[in-house]
Amino acid sequence: MEDTLKILVVDDDEVDRMAVRCALTKAGIQIELSEVANSNDAFSILNTTGYDCVFLNYRLIAQDGLTLIQQLRSSEIKVPLVVLIDQEDEQTAVQLLKAGATDYLSKSRISPENLAQVLRSAIRVYRAEIQVALAKDQLRESHEELLRKNQELERQQQQLQMQNFKLSEASVLKSHFLATMSHELRTPMNAIIGFSQILLRPKFGQLTHQQADMVERILNNGKHLLMLVNEVLDFSKLEAGRLDLKAERFDVLKVINLAVGEMRSLADAKNLSLLVQTDLQNTLVFNDPVRLKQIVINLLSNAIKFTESGEVCVEVKELPANRLTIIVRDTGIGIAPRDFQRIFEAFRQVDQTLTRKYPGTGLGLAIVDSLVRMMGGKIFLESKLGVGSTFKIELPRQISLSSVGGEPPPLQLDSNQVFSSAKNPHHSSTQARQSPIGYPKFKL
Ligand code: ADP
Repeated sequence: MEDTLKILVVDDDEVDRMAVRCALTKAGIQIELSEVANSNDAFSILNTTGYDCVFLNYRLIAQDGLTLIQQLRSSEIKVPLVVLIDQEDEQTAVQLLKAGATDYLSKSRISPENLAQVLRSAIRVYRAEIQVALAKDQLRESHEELLRKNQELERQQQQLQMQNFKLSEASVLKSHFLATMSHELRTPMNAIIGFSQILLRPKFGQLTHQQADMVERILNNGKHLLMLVNEVLDFSKLEAGRLDLKAERFDVLKVINLAVGEMRSLADAKNLSLLVQTDLQNTLVFNDPVRLKQIVINLLSNAIKFTESGEVCVEVKELPANRLTIIVRDTGIGIAPRDFQRIFEAFRQVDQTLTRKYPGTGLGLAIVDSLVRMMGGKIFLESKLGVGSTFKIELPRQISLSSVGGEPPPLQLDSNQVFSSAKNPHHSSTQARQSPIGYPKFKL
């Protein structure tokens, strides 16, 4: 036990006080004892001085011990209280303990041993009670803190929901705007293209060389603009899930050769070889020829655009399980692995600056991605900066009718299909995407 215990004895009977004093002294406990004879003095001394324990006579003349206990407990005074009662009386004992007494002892049992034991256990119990109360306080505080944090989280969640709602509303409006605008732009563009073509026909009068040159430019730029508008329109349709595939049986090589034919003048203008290689035995497929051509044109126009010298090659090969692959390979600037995922997102370009060297809307690959997914296929990208890029598309020979016009599955990178060059960082990397998309892209 502690070195010196400060004890207060509250008893109006001098003899009883002496009995307690003697017993504590005999018990060999180091004490500093104070004595008061009534509850008022007890209350005021306890208000100003801290004690380790109070021995309190249950029967005081001016006020009974019970009232004093209640008074002490309802005040801020915290001290172990041992009540000395005249005789063993269970009912009184329960009453006292309920009121806040720490323990009680019958006066007839006052002895050095008993008093020492009661004193020790009262102090121990009291300290334990204080610790429990402290722990309860801490628990209550943490609970309140948790509630506060919960409320804050709920508030943030509501804000997020609200922002989400606003964002999706803005996105719907954006898609609607894109669809309406591109639709509206197509009519005048068609008129510009149509009338330029008419002007170029000799039967509408001979144009001077300079005039013909200008009309041709109007026509070419009109076509280019129409293609860009079509791209935006396709993208907005795909986003809204309103683009359907029109599947039919056709010769895939014919469609690929058509796409290559359309792109040849661009490749020639850059002195690039444009090759087609195939080992297809059976060239028949069941798919949407317009959208398939759009995929090839998108990939080819990128390959040509991002290649300054060398070649662009389209390969068509058989795959097991009635599938085939279309590969567009170039010897161009290449793509860094960190951009593999990004470039398939709408409006994303490796170079996003306004002064970028290569023009484009940033929609081409997003459209390819969505179309391939709609066709139940996958895209693999393998590229190395400064060496070139390979876009490989794997498609079922016959697309499933359920996927035609169906809602495209969410765009996601299939980690199993990533043949990243973790083992050899100098190897080019390949990433596969399981995705759908579509619409012819014409880049001039
Ligand atoms: P756009 O060509 O209109 O910019 P795309 O969606 O077709 O948009 O392509 C997105 C970006 O991906 C391009 O801006 C370019 O940075 C990169 N990219 C696509 N194809 C190639 C390629 N063959 N070689 C190098 N970079 C490419």
